[in-house]
Amino acid sequence: MAIDLDRCTGCQACVAACHAENNLPVSDPESAAKGRAFHWIRVDRYYEGEFPEIRVKYMPVLCQQCDEAPCEPVCPVYATYKNEEGLNVQVYNRCVGTRYCANNCPYSVRFFNWFDPKWPAPLDLQHNPDVSIRMTGVMEKCTFCIQRIQRVERSAKEEDRPVADGEIQPACVQSCPAEAMVFGDLNDRESKVSRLAESGRATRLLEDLGTRPKVFYLQKAE
Ligand code: SF4
Repeated sequence: MAIDLDRCTGCQACVAACHAENNLPVSDPESAAKGRAFHWIRVDRYYEGEFPEIRVKYMPVLCQQCDEAPCEPVCPVYATYKNEEGLNVQVYNRCVGTRYCANNCPYSVRFFNWFDPKWPAPLDLQHNPDVSIRMTGVMEKCTFCIQRIQRVERSAKEEDRPVADGEIQPACVQSCPAEAMVFGDLNDRESKVSRLAESGRATRLLEDLGTRPKVFYLQKAE
């Protein structure tokens, strides 16, 4: 995935879309105060300068789908691992809730279910049937909307054709009004996301840690 920080306006449409698509509960103020808020994607804010000459920068942060993911080797039951497409996946029914993975993630993008989630009416009517609802004691995080990836791959297979570049759109990508996010196949050198990742503007978050994230941030043009 590539995220253009020069386009992001901080509107948080991606956050709302992720909640709706992936059946994320909304934390009450008490849980949020204890650090138990749920956002598979969040928008960090950075300020530059002094008031009134102040500039705000926005940075959407989600699971970086690291090639050398620090969360993977610390899971005692292999609930999180890399699949053959390079996605860092989470097997919910294998997770025993030690939270080692969240403690070892430098990006703070993993979330633990302290309680069975509740959706007060009418929110209970909006569940996405393609996505499971996670229960107490289970770790969860962004999957790049794996249900959408699989749906497109199945259609392409039935129609005996390759998946087209840009055909798979995670909810955050689809909902972004600024088209700041691009998703695609990094193994395809011609894909839009590959070209952006190889542009001079691409950087990776906390790259010095050696985690080799697969999310590329395109820095603001000066
Ligand atoms: S929807 Fe797009 S513009 Fe809005 S916060 Fe998310 S990435 Fe930024």
